[in-house]
Amino acid sequence: VADVDLFVLGGGSGGVACARRAASHGARVALAEHSRVGGTCVIRGCVPKKLMSYGAHFADWFKIARAYGWDLEMPDLDFRRLLENRNREIERLNGVYLAMLERAGIQLLEGSARIAARTADGFAIEVAGRRITADRVLLAVGASPNLPAIPGAELAVTSDELLEQVYAKPRRLIVVGAGYIGLEQSSIFLGLGVETHLVLRRDLPLNGFDEDLRRELTGQLEERGMKIHRNTQVSGIEKANDGFVLHTSGGDLAGDKVLLATGRNPRPNTGGIGLEELGVQLDAAGAVRVDQAFESNVRGLYAIGDCSDHAFGCEAGTAAEELGLSSGEFDLTPVAIAEGRAVAERLFNANPTSVGYRIVPTSVFSIPQAASVGLAEHRARQIGHAVQVFKTRFRPMLQTVAAIAGFRTEERILMKLVVDKDTDRVLGCHMVGDDAAEIIQSLAVALMAGATKAEFDATMALHPSAAEEFVTLYQPAA
Ligand SMILES: Cc1cc2nc3c(=O)[nH]c(=O)nc-3n(C[C@H](O)[C@H](O)[C@H](O)COP(=O)(O)OP(=O)(O)OC[C@H]3O[C@@H](n4cnc5c(N)ncnc54)[C@H](O)[C@@H]3O)c2cc1C
Repeated sequence: VADVDLFVLGGGSGGVACARRAASHGARVALAEHSRVGGTCVIRGCVPKKLMSYGAHFADWFKIARAYGWDLEMPDLDFRRLLENRNREIERLNGVYLAMLERAGIQLLEGSARIAARTADGFAIEVAGRRITADRVLLAVGASPNLPAIPGAELAVTSDELLEQVYAKPRRLIVVGAGYIGLEQSSIFLGLGVETHLVLRRDLPLNGFDEDLRRELTGQLEERGMKIHRNTQVSGIEKANDGFVLHTSGGDLAGDKVLLATGRNPRPNTGGIGLEELGVQLDAAGAVRVDQAFESNVRGLYAIGDCSDHAFGCEAGTAAEELGLSSGEFDLTPVAIAEGRAVAERLFNANPTSVGYRIVPTSVFSIPQAASVGLAEHRARQIGHAVQVFKTRFRPMLQTVAAIAGFRTEERILMKLVVDKDTDRVLGCHMVGDDAAEIIQSLAVALMAGATKAEFDATMALHPSAAEEFVTLYQPAA
């Protein structure tokens, strides 16, 4: 008999979710983690970045407070205190995760795990000098920042360092990368009063998102003072007297911190852990290829979350083919959790649930926020929908009084619905503006339920709110 029923490599969102669900069904589970339990999301991703974003938001509130009658001088920011308190909260959450594993009776092994062999009745895993046998193995090892092959790349930081470490507030931050991580970090630091440069390879950031959302957000970031360098290629980083110089096709940029936010890659994490020896199939990015049960080509070996290809291309006529998406677009915490639970349900509760990828809400926690669920307009057109678009752009109510008092007025909310003209189904909802993530999460329920535009229209508005605009959009856009 094997030592455990399930061995989980990686104590992040997906690994912990699977281990806990499996244990709740009576499975004997061991989990290995070589950093801190909680994984990318809790330790160096979603959670610390949202806390930093809250920190940066105060700048706006202080500025408009005066219009609402509050006399206050612009207060000073103790940047170190922000980072230290952020880290205290991460410590607390790490403790919560450890306690959850312990309560569930999951054996935690600290160290780097690798699959040493396939045995007659399963697998042998080595971790911290121990060898443990398991009937089944779950790979939930996540992904790592992808550094471009330019000289001096090692002089830059990645989001890992910015979100985990305590450091002095930079005066000038240069962010390379057009994905959501680059946008979030650049706008957070801009909000914290740092001169911020964002270097984009193309004209617009957030490839794949709805174009109206991309344009609106970029325009607003520029109006807020972010220096955006479009269509700019980077060629190297060098040390300078008081910081670094980034060489680009548009000239040199000087800063005292350079953030490379140029994507994430599963390969470093899926390499060197015994997968080559077992003949596990990986895709070009190094993600483990899995079927709809999240099983790899090696029976009994499963993979979920960022280190997997999310069963891409398995479901005919759905996400992959139909929507023209890439598997990396599903590298999100709730997706990893859903996949982890699905594996546990199938293996230990005779409940073969699947994971749906059609309606995956997602947000960019920039300032202002942007969020989407369902299809972007261009994708809806690409796959042959007769598209009708409804949109509105307006000044947030919070800002109206501020505008009267002569304060910053450029902030706008953008809301957009993409509708199929033939069926009246709402295919996509997109928003730029504060609370976009909260609003889009609720609209995801409507999209899951297959709501039509007529049903949006028949929904009573909640007044006065920004969200009510989503149910009062009357005229289609030309
Ligand atoms: C800056 C940033 C912001 C993000 N913001 C969001 C967001 O707002 N919303 C959202 O949904 N998603 C966000 N994400 C993505 C989200 O964090 C990931 O999709 C999610 O963490 C994936 O979970 P996972 O379980 O697949 O992997 P991870 O959470 O990465 O966990 C993998 C774990 O495995 C461990 N490990 C790796 N190899 C081994 C080994 N050989 N032995 C033992 N342990 C090992 C690692 O240390 C890690 O703890 C963000 C990511 C980043 C980087």
